[in-house]
Amino acid sequence: MKSIICSKPKEFLQTEAPEPRPGPEEALVRIRNIGICGTDLHAYQGQQPFFEYPRILGHELSAEVIDAGADPRLKKGDYVVINPYLKCGECIACRRGKDNCCQYMQVMGVHCDGGMRELITVPTENAIPAEGLELDQMATVECFAIGAHAVRRAGLSNKDTVAVVGAGPIGIGVIQFAKITGARVIVVDLNDQRLRFCKEILGTDATINATKCPIQSLQDLTGGDKPTTVFDVTGNKSSMEAAFEYCAPGGQLVMVGLIKGRLTFDDPHFHKHELTLKSSRNGTSEDLQQVIDAIRDGLVDTENFITHRCGFDKIVDQFEAWILPETNVIKAMVEIN
Ligand SMILES: [Zn+2]
Ligand SMILES: [Zn+2]
Repeated sequence: MKSIICSKPKEFLQTEAPEPRPGPEEALVRIRNIGICGTDLHAYQGQQPFFEYPRILGHELSAEVIDAGADPRLKKGDYVVINPYLKCGECIACRRGKDNCCQYMQVMGVHCDGGMRELITVPTENAIPAEGLELDQMATVECFAIGAHAVRRAGLSNKDTVAVVGAGPIGIGVIQFAKITGARVIVVDLNDQRLRFCKEILGTDATINATKCPIQSLQDLTGGDKPTTVFDVTGNKSSMEAAFEYCAPGGQLVMVGLIKGRLTFDDPHFHKHELTLKSSRNGTSEDLQQVIDAIRDGLVDTENFITHRCGFDKIVDQFEAWILPETNVIKAMVEIN
């Protein structure tokens, strides 16, 4: 079977690999779609911290079941979403249902080999039936689950006014799931094209260009109150530190994006406003299921979200182009037929 290995930064090798054999409690699946995200592009460029090469990338996957093993939920020919988070099931996080931050988490395509190959084996519980979804929609589920999880962490209601700082692919997920709760959603980003997308396609209530004094604009848009919940989805240190100032008194800040390093904030400001600071990592199986249901119910836009497509044989050429900002990629989708 064909397999594409990222052998070192800036190098893909196309190889023939032997077909994998499923072990007990594993399913054999044929990969059909691979969503490409920042993690893949950064790994290819050599900018992903702690990344080890060689590695087979690809963690946003839809697949067809070839051999379902003994799992009664699955049968040959079913289309499934692959949950790429391989959890230990035994650590304190897993025991408390917080498998998104399992102590021994292995993310397929990051810590172990992923889906840029024709066939893979996965624990049967990581193959999630998603009837009613198209194969390309299934490959957006993991990406949206990160946004859905952040929104679940925040516990939003229709009384909240939310600011989402950073309208990349993950931010777009946060925006869509925040809107589902009925909250009022304001988007802050540097890129006017992204802001237009949020306004016109996602129907956000307001947008602010981050270069234009966002604190003042947030106050103006909320009658002086400022947002009750702020999500930072930038992975940018100065943005993350500035976001403390965007929250209403008694509000909360959810850090979805992350950096390699330390953040500092003004403790008197933090205490005076009794802010709540939360991090949000990956998504749980519950979040993945919520995304599948929301896409099936037409609550999430996937059509405009997928901006670029290519076949499996073209990945190697396309990666260089997708890195360039002028390509305006939101979500690129690889199709294996
Ligand atoms: Zn991803
Ligand atoms: Zn665990």
